[in-house]
Amino acid sequence: MHPVVKPALRQAWRDLRYVQFGVTAAHAVVLGPVDTATGSLLSLFDGTRGLARLREEARAIGLPDGHVDALLERLAKAGLVDDVTGGGPAAAALRKRTGAYDRLRPDLASLSVVHPEPGGGAARLAARDAVRVQVRGAGRVGATVAAVLSAAGVGQVDVLDGGRVEPWDVAPGGVPAEAVGERRAVSAQQVVRRSAPGRARRAPRRSDGGPVEPPPLSLVIVAPRDGLAAYVPDPATAEDWLATGTPHLYAGVAEASGVVGPLVLPGGSACAGCLALRRADRDPVWPRMAAQWRTPRHRETGPGPCDLGLATTVAGMAASHALSFLDGELPASTGTRWEVSLPLLEWRSRRIEAHRDCPCGAAGQTEGERASGAGTTHDTMAGVAASTECQMADAARQLGIGGAHV
Ligand SMILES: [Zn+2]
Repeated sequence: MHPVVKPALRQAWRDLRYVQFGVTAAHAVVLGPVDTATGSLLSLFDGTRGLARLREEARAIGLPDGHVDALLERLAKAGLVDDVTGGGPAAAALRKRTGAYDRLRPDLASLSVVHPEPGGGAARLAARDAVRVQVRGAGRVGATVAAVLSAAGVGQVDVLDGGRVEPWDVAPGGVPAEAVGERRAVSAQQVVRRSAPGRARRAPRRSDGGPVEPPPLSLVIVAPRDGLAAYVPDPATAEDWLATGTPHLYAGVAEASGVVGPLVLPGGSACAGCLALRRADRDPVWPRMAAQWRTPRHRETGPGPCDLGLATTVAGMAASHALSFLDGELPASTGTRWEVSLPLLEWRSRRIEAHRDCPCGAAGQTEGERASGAGTTHDTMAGVAASTECQMADAARQLGIGGAHV
């Protein structure tokens, strides 16, 4: 292990004895009291030294045996220490792909903030490489979602759509203007390839030269060009995903509103069927209207309304929720729709309760939901109760610092 005090968190001394790691309320932590010797030891945790050398250098500056390990444990419990060699073999392999690794360094730094354990960020980033995601829709939202996921290290992003690229499909984060006239699925797949960090690797082959079976889908993102299919999702299209237990996330723009969610965990959280039944409970004519909206004669032949800023926002939010889920969390779109409308663009959420009449079986289940970042507290050090520390904690709270005081 080569410990480093997480460089992603900015350090600032609140006074001579207390140091704060991090700026933002969700992840900032105050460490203290820190004596002078410990303070100088902190600066040695920069990722260039292994444990043996750290212990040696601590001894050289007169610190007792065990001081390094005790400090390290204290920092680790506060989620403040990373391991520059950690994360397992996949992370080690990623570090050797220097082009890709350099591209992904900001993402790694972000993951190191979110995941407290040493090497946890690197392990999650490397794990994305083995993941397969399907994006259904190659318009302004879908192609941008696919590009972002690929650029963020998701190893396989399949994009499904029909027809050929129209001028209004073009978006700065998605399909380029040069692709107009090409088949949508093909051009979106090119966007995915171009977005991937590092050089594209050859598809793995079996020992007999045949192609390797693709991994099962970890997630389907429903991002149709006609955002109606995300805003009023048709339960029939989700039947296969429910049957195979495939998690799926809806995202799209309809008229001048964007929607992200729900992220459906089949049998665990509300699905499109639950949503339709809840709507019908509140408004009995809803199914009749939904059927009219979905009939071909009500579909526009040209481009429907889709504000580019809104589409990009929805795509970014959807991709971020997808990445959080792929990294092992349950983001706030789980069983919940997030909606945003022009012109004020205020995000609002609506929780969808699973419906007892829906065959998905999610009613009565608990999805084990937990917060993935904001508001969570890191482990705290036991036995630190000096009055000054309480005052510092109070000060931190007044400043809106949500992390632990250790
Ligand atoms: Zn359901």
